[in-house]
Amino acid sequence: MRPTPNAGILDIAPYVGGKSTAKAGVRVVKLSSNETPLGASPAAIEAYKEAAGNLHRYPDGSATKLRETIAEVYNLPSGQIVCGAGSDELIGLLIHAYVKADDEVLISEHGFLMYKIYAQSVGAKVIFAPEKNLRTDVDAILKAVTEKTKIVFIANPNNPTGSYISASEMKHLHDNLPKNVILAIDDAYSEYATPDDYSDGSELVKTSENTVMLRTFSKIYGLSALRLGWMFAPAHIIDAVNRIRGPFNISTPAISAGIAAIRDTGFTQRTKEFNRKWLDWLNTEITKLGLTVHPSIGNFLIVEIPVEKHTAYYANAYLLERGLIVREVVNYGLPNCLRISIGLEEDNKAVVSALKEFLSK
Ligand SMILES: *Cc1c(COP(=O)(O)O)cnc(C)c1O
Repeated sequence: MRPTPNAGILDIAPYVGGKSTAKAGVRVVKLSSNETPLGASPAAIEAYKEAAGNLHRYPDGSATKLRETIAEVYNLPSGQIVCGAGSDELIGLLIHAYVKADDEVLISEHGFLMYKIYAQSVGAKVIFAPEKNLRTDVDAILKAVTEKTKIVFIANPNNPTGSYISASEMKHLHDNLPKNVILAIDDAYSEYATPDDYSDGSELVKTSENTVMLRTFSKIYGLSALRLGWMFAPAHIIDAVNRIRGPFNISTPAISAGIAAIRDTGFTQRTKEFNRKWLDWLNTEITKLGLTVHPSIGNFLIVEIPVEKHTAYYANAYLLERGLIVREVVNYGLPNCLRISIGLEEDNKAVVSALKEFLSK
């Protein structure tokens, strides 16, 4: 006899992060985890260093200053914000508070995999709604709702597809969802989004009792290493999550750096513009090579590698040989695709040249 984990735990396929090493001796360019190539705001790095003087003190367990700064910059009530060790932690807390064994969590076909992992961790069933053209189909989601559905997770824009649904599609989804089901809108890449018909989840949160918006400091703010995210939600959901949250779940250096990062709106704006420019460039140049690039509004894009001559597997290996680490997305049901994060100018150019060489072989 030995201890055994709960039912379902050993069925979980562990999350596979983007690779960060390539062949010894080649310059490594990591384009596999949607990190910003511009790094964090210098002000955030400075604030992080300053926090080193207080490592012997516990952090402020309610992250009041950080929540107030988020509230100010995003024009939201600070009492309806909770911070987490990455938005990953908040996804987990939400599921632990609202989902139990045999309940259902509803996800789009190529949706972010952390929803599935946390749902499985409580023995819940994960239901995938089919997509059309790598895009969330809100009517397919609504069709898949049952009496057991507890949470619908929508990443908008979605990772790994980069596609988004419009504000009116999101509203249609919300309006037709039973009121006891949580609509969790994961806006991890929202700060990068530019289309006019896109909006983040905050309006829906303000006007309903069952919508939450998840945000992260890991993407445009460049603080992935610190693990920092936040959720804006109705007060009753904040209350439930706060009851099961670890009392000191985010660290003082993360709080300090987060405050400085979010205040440096000029840096954020420049990062957004840089991304827009190189996202468009990469899209155009890869399309010119004859490959299908799926439209993305994030800081990454999905490229289809034609199966007849080549496969995504070989393309990935070819790039890796040259130190270019991108992401295979087989586990997202996209075996013919690679996900490529936007890098620095020379990195983006290196990706295009390497793909060109690969295709000509
Ligand atoms: C990167 C990402 C997150 C953020 O995760 P953190 O835990 O905050 O680093 C959340 N959702 C999606 C869809 C992501 O791609």
